[in-house]
Amino acid sequence: SRSSNSNGSVPSLEVAIVGGGIIGVMTALGLHRRGIKAVIYERAPTWHEVSAGFAFTGAGRECMQQLHPGIVEVLGRISQKTDASTSNTYWDAYHPRNRQDAEDESKALLFKTPNNKLDYWGCVRSQLLLGMAALLPDGAFKFGKQLLSYDDDEKTSKVILRFEDGTTAEADVLLGCDGIHSTTRRIMLGNDHPASRAGYTHIVAYRTMVPIDVGIAALGEKVAKTGCMHCGPNACLMSYPVMNGTLLNVAIFAHDPSEFPEPDKMTAPAERGEIERLFKGWSPHLANIAKLYPENLVKWGLFDMDENPPPTYASGRACIVGDAAHASTPFLGVGACTGVEDALVLCTILESARQKTSNSNVQGESLTQALQTYSQARLDRGRWVHHNSRQVGQMYQWRYGPTGRDTERIKQKLERDCHTIVDYDVMAPLVA
Ligand code: FAD
Repeated sequence: SRSSNSNGSVPSLEVAIVGGGIIGVMTALGLHRRGIKAVIYERAPTWHEVSAGFAFTGAGRECMQQLHPGIVEVLGRISQKTDASTSNTYWDAYHPRNRQDAEDESKALLFKTPNNKLDYWGCVRSQLLLGMAALLPDGAFKFGKQLLSYDDDEKTSKVILRFEDGTTAEADVLLGCDGIHSTTRRIMLGNDHPASRAGYTHIVAYRTMVPIDVGIAALGEKVAKTGCMHCGPNACLMSYPVMNGTLLNVAIFAHDPSEFPEPDKMTAPAERGEIERLFKGWSPHLANIAKLYPENLVKWGLFDMDENPPPTYASGRACIVGDAAHASTPFLGVGACTGVEDALVLCTILESARQKTSNSNVQGESLTQALQTYSQARLDRGRWVHHNSRQVGQMYQWRYGPTGRDTERIKQKLERDCHTIVDYDVMAPLVA
């Protein structure tokens, strides 16, 4: 609901969001719901997301609900919801020598964790983006707008955005939701700052989605119908059903000691033979998994902010949100959920900055302060996520020193991390 100041007018606040990915769109929806005008500037010619699967925790959905209830409605329509009675399972994918042993819980199952804690809903990314974009008001997004630079203009108290097509735009605040290779972050911190670029984690991902019956034939019924992690030396495989259980989302993660060939693109051409070589000598499910992939495919390089985390998420009238701030490996499965938390905190702070103002324009200083409050509220959480996600990735690949191949230690670390993800009070830093 719109609030008015002592003059009876609603203080104006115009927000520019750079990047129309999942987090840019959610942030825009959260702002519009609070009566704050926000325009998304997206470099692509239209909404674009890959048709890969990803999932949101129950805690993430609570944030969405507060941000804009329409987001949870869209997600609910297109999701595969985990059943509280089922579990995520973790399997030894290396030692079993035949298919029977590989599917025998007493021989190959490392441990289970109950689903009700994380309570994931899995969906297809492109469907979520389109569903949410349909909730945006007219004029709330502009395509073909690649941010090149911005000026935080002291005199006018405005941020001026400059785009590749030669045009400019003006706003009171700039929110950089421009992902892992964020231009906003580079400009904010300076080209030479180590955090201006994401670091290669030396892990590549091979992703595919197959019809559920193909998944069942490959991995067995027990495995294909729930969320699973297959662990082994220097690689692991994650699978879970999406699209109301009709598709199986599969991702292989492999340690890559060399440098990624295309550091700015995140993907590189690959061949099925790479996967065959990777799982040579593993148990039968994994040794045959390459058959689910086409002959020619792409592999994704996993980059994150863990080696050089940004010292701040805000400077002047600009801030970074979502992956632009704390891009993480996917092993905790909460990269986007962490961006949803950012969006909620930011929308709450901007709404309150506007309500507190006594002028018709929200003053630059109070906005700068508001963005600093956002940064302070989110820095530790963002860093915790990419740091622990890296550790968990290494753990699944039996490369993490403190857990090694020790099943009990692996389970304990996961439980601790899961607890930190779910029981975190997103709004607490604002109250303190
Ligand atoms: P992005 O999705 O990267 O969007 C950035 C947008 O900005 C893009 O549209 C881009 O075109 C635009 N842009 C970039 N530069 C400019 C510019 N200069 N000017 C204008 N526009 C620009 N998270 C979960 O919570 N659950 C999961 O299950 C999960 N699984 C994952 C699996 C994998 C394999 C990976 C790699 C990640 C996973 N994540 C998951 C993390 C999640 O995908 C990201 O956290 C999320 O997509 C980040 O969204 P974003 O909007 O911040 O960035």
